[in-house]
Amino acid sequence: MKKILVVLIILVAVYIIFSMKNKEDQNQTKNTILPVITTVEHASFVMNWGGVTIYNDPVGEASLYASSPPPDIILLSDIHGDHFNLETLSTLVGENTKLIAPEAVAEKLEGAILEKTEVLKNGQVSVDRGFTIEAIPMYNLPESLDAYHTRGRGNGYLVEGGGVRVYIAGDTADIPEMRALEDIDIAFIPMNLPYTMDIETASSVVLEFIPKIVIPYHYRGPNGLSDVAKFKSLVNERNPAIEVLLLDWYK
Ligand code: ZN
Repeated sequence: MKKILVVLIILVAVYIIFSMKNKEDQNQTKNTILPVITTVEHASFVMNWGGVTIYNDPVGEASLYASSPPPDIILLSDIHGDHFNLETLSTLVGENTKLIAPEAVAEKLEGAILEKTEVLKNGQVSVDRGFTIEAIPMYNLPESLDAYHTRGRGNGYLVEGGGVRVYIAGDTADIPEMRALEDIDIAFIPMNLPYTMDIETASSVVLEFIPKIVIPYHYRGPNGLSDVAKFKSLVNERNPAIEVLLLDWYK
């Protein structure tokens, strides 16, 4: 029930924002197809998008995904347990599932799952079922060999389909590649120290690349959950036009 409510709230918010956008661009006949987002936990979520089902970093019990259609595309960002679980994948991957992963993740796959996997390095692009998926760098700063996330190992993703651009940042610090993004409709932004960013840094980044909608995700750390309500006010004090959607990630 909670999940249905969350989906409804997202649909209403997204509809309002896009109808506003369409009023601004009345000369354009661009029809947008929006993803319906279902949170699972932390970094795991499902997007039903124009009849295509995309899973992001699915981990945990397969039952968590029972209310979603089977995945057409699975995006994998990194090797850590909150993003990658071979057991979960083996229960979810179906005949027509395609996985997209960085090399470091693909090295941990084998057999039928590996055969269905396309490896993307940072900057490379895949086209599948009408979606363009670009791997965006994600890494910690300052860069060091013993950082939680070294540059080039993991992938954030920019997914474009139905006239909509969705950015899934992955586990990243405040990197120039993120600040340089343009025309993002929906951005999933992590905020948990010491692995990614604090809320002040995350708000500063968002205020620079100005996505239409921001969804905080991946915000549980060693000291509990980050204050995403404060993140929202930090963003909206400076730019009230950015819609910050606070979803239920930690049940
Ligand atoms: Zn993580």
